[in-house]
Amino acid sequence: MIPAAFDYVRAGSAEEAISLIGQHGDEAKFLAGGHSLLPLMKLRLAQPSVLIDIGRLTDLSYIRDGGDHLAIGALTRHRDVETSDLVKQHAPLLGHATSHVGDPQVRHRGTIGGSLAHADPAADLPATTLALGATYVAQGPSGTREIAAADFYEGFLESTLAPDELLTEIRIPKMGSAGWSFQKFNRRAQDWAIVGVAAWRNNGDSGVALVNMGSTPVLASSVSAALAGGASPAEAAEQAAADASPQADLNASVEFRVHLAKVLVRRALEEASA
Ligand SMILES: Cc1cc2nc3c(=O)[nH]c(=O)nc-3n(C[C@H](O)[C@H](O)[C@H](O)COP(=O)(O)OP(=O)(O)OC[C@H]3O[C@@H](n4cnc5c(N)ncnc54)[C@H](O)[C@@H]3O)c2cc1C
Repeated sequence: MIPAAFDYVRAGSAEEAISLIGQHGDEAKFLAGGHSLLPLMKLRLAQPSVLIDIGRLTDLSYIRDGGDHLAIGALTRHRDVETSDLVKQHAPLLGHATSHVGDPQVRHRGTIGGSLAHADPAADLPATTLALGATYVAQGPSGTREIAAADFYEGFLESTLAPDELLTEIRIPKMGSAGWSFQKFNRRAQDWAIVGVAAWRNNGDSGVALVNMGSTPVLASSVSAALAGGASPAEAAEQAAADASPQADLNASVEFRVHLAKVLVRRALEEASA
């Protein structure tokens, strides 16, 4: 499969990337790890006229302790998140979920910012950062703004990020002593989730989000409300699909997805509670 012709420009800084995308308009796209964009281009589902390569913006590849949160640069590769001691200590759910993204080759190229900006409901990290209550930082021509993960996802592969905004940082609240679990149901090892669940619990608080249960990653607020009201993991898991709008595809019917969500949420809550 060969993509349509495109021009290629490499940005040397975040500011230059934003300026370049401003010059080239809606037909231009940022290129980070290329592991979601290039497959779409090869299938001709995306035909940008210009690719602005941000893959070498090493300034945006970092994991820092921000006090009450971890600050992760948007260009940080999955492999660096997966193996980071800071992530293991303060956001183990994110590190573990990242270890389930594709295979080692994908994790060495793909970036956390690319995964979130791509806004694929079947991807592991949008739902995981949603469950963790993350904040995303975006930089555009008129400055920087913070976007709650809960306000970011608008539709299938659509987010509230403007075309001329660059995702620069992801802020993950530290998990403290919360119990957590990541459940991914797929047919083949290293494949995308047919349904997935990211969950954490800490006394009365919890966060539960679903992978591939609608056109966006889904925050399962009804599950958290049930837990806060005293429900057991099994009882709360009955609410797993209450906030979701799953669709059928080659891998699963709607009914099978709802069943999977209930089973995986129960397993996740039992593991997080233990
Ligand atoms: C074989 C294979 C298996 C995979 N398996 C999984 C899996 O199991 N689970 C999973 O979650 N993912 C999986 N992925 C996707 C992988 O995680 C990608 O790396 C990730 O989704 C996209 O990151 P990227 O850096 O490659 O982004 P790119 O492909 O470069 O970009 C993706 C989109 O985001 C935009 N973008 C990128 N960075 C920014 C930024 N900083 N600011 C604004 N816009 C930006 C681009 O313009 C583009 O529209 C798989 C990919 C492949 C090829």
